[in-house]
Amino acid sequence: GVANIGVTGMAVMGSNLARNLASREGNTVAIHNRTTAKAHRVAEEHPEAGFVVAETMADFAASLARPRTAVIMVKAGAPTDAVINELTEVFEPGDIIVDGGNADFHDTIRREAELREKGFVFVGCGISGGEEGALKGPSLMPGGSAEGYRTLGPILETIAARAGEDDSPCVTHVGTDGAGHFVKMVHNGIEYADMQLIGEAYDLLRRVLGYEPAKIAEVFAEWNTGDLNSYLIEITAEVLRQTDPRGGDEPLIDKVLDAAGAKGTGSWTVQNALDLGVPVSGIAEAVFARSLSSDPERRAVGQKLPGPERSVWIEDPHVFINEVRDSLYAAKIIAYAQGFDEIVAGAKKYGWDINLGEIARIWRAGCIIRAGFLDQITAAYVEHPDLITLLEAPVFSEALTKAQQGWRRVVATAVYSGVPTPALSTSLAYYDALRSPRLPAALTQLQRDFFGAHTYRRIDDEGSFHTLWSADRSEVSEG
Ligand code: NDP
Repeated sequence: GVANIGVTGMAVMGSNLARNLASREGNTVAIHNRTTAKAHRVAEEHPEAGFVVAETMADFAASLARPRTAVIMVKAGAPTDAVINELTEVFEPGDIIVDGGNADFHDTIRREAELREKGFVFVGCGISGGEEGALKGPSLMPGGSAEGYRTLGPILETIAARAGEDDSPCVTHVGTDGAGHFVKMVHNGIEYADMQLIGEAYDLLRRVLGYEPAKIAEVFAEWNTGDLNSYLIEITAEVLRQTDPRGGDEPLIDKVLDAAGAKGTGSWTVQNALDLGVPVSGIAEAVFARSLSSDPERRAVGQKLPGPERSVWIEDPHVFINEVRDSLYAAKIIAYAQGFDEIVAGAKKYGWDINLGEIARIWRAGCIIRAGFLDQITAAYVEHPDLITLLEAPVFSEALTKAQQGWRRVVATAVYSGVPTPALSTSLAYYDALRSPRLPAALTQLQRDFFGAHTYRRIDDEGSFHTLWSADRSEVSEG
């Protein structure tokens, strides 16, 4: 075979990734697609790529130099299993099979074990950045064996986005088997939280201050020059500035149905966090907010429920805008801290050795959540690799300290004005819960002991205890 790498699955992600690969020196790329015509079309539309088109899986295998390296970019789930099966029929032990789709990491763990058994090297690789990232440089989160990364890593480094003063490629060996897809899942969860927080900030400026979208666009553009500098803030300004493409000067946002869609990775992040016992409340509220928005029946009933008579009167809009900005930043720090906590818990449960500083480093460019702030997370982990929580890093505890008074006023203003801010509010509650020297969990424990004899521990003695609630209410030691 003449090609050093192949891509199967020529929809938007696969074709763009293949073009990215072909644009790097030294690569000859074989392409394949179930519906062959699509692969031919991609090759015709991009003659500069010099693609080798494979009509069948057997052709695909024959077109690749050994040991073969192939990237699968098809629909996640059963289609990925189908393609893996076809590949293993024509590939040989030692060949590398990369799944670049949005796989459930449990599937990746299973597939890696099955393929390793057969002698193949299987790498589940999270890819972020959408179509543009795939074409120009995505953030890549490969898992699989360290051995697989030795061969694959150098190729991935040539196509990844680059960030920082050292222009380092946004790719690292995340950990074994499903680690890459797990981290990609959490990345998407953080993306949900980030977007929801931005939505809440927009809603506050719109409904409390009465600003028009174009004016709010200017506020976001200004925010993009500071701590909040990020891709999502940047595109928010663009989106809010946009008038209806069908004509007139009304903002496009006012013409769009306010029902948010989702493809599932946000819910996976929350489901796994529940299993791992990690509070990712910011991400959870973001997922729930999308569900609520897409429930027209309940929202129709809700239209009849009363709210406050008017929104809170804001003395000085500029002070309020700055407080919203600081709240958004504080809640964003909380969302990332919670996401990183989930990565730590996942790594512990599934036996991965994940370097958190490296994760922040590879998210600095290429991916949807790229942000100036990730430089600071990377620096925080380099300086203190054993941070218990991101909130402990001086740069973030100082930001929270600076934000917290305004954050309270913003959440209170939202509550008094009847503007829902679930993610901003829950993040503040998380912050206050962590701060609280005593939590009402002592009461929870006593209730559990009362109705179910679940026992409690004491702050002044070792062991577990039970109060004889329905007898003389003396305390007994439970071993
Ligand atoms: P789609 O998810 O729409 O998948 C379409 C591709 O899958 C086509 O090539 C199609 O072949 C192939 N396919 C579907 N079923 C089968 C099957 N049973 N056997 C063989 N091939 C099959 O394409 P995208 O480019 O949007 O995404 C590719 C992957 O990348 C997905 O897993 C997606 O989740 C992931 N991803 C997507 C991102 C995005 O922004 N879109 C970002 C990051 C990851 P055919 O032409 O023959 O129908």
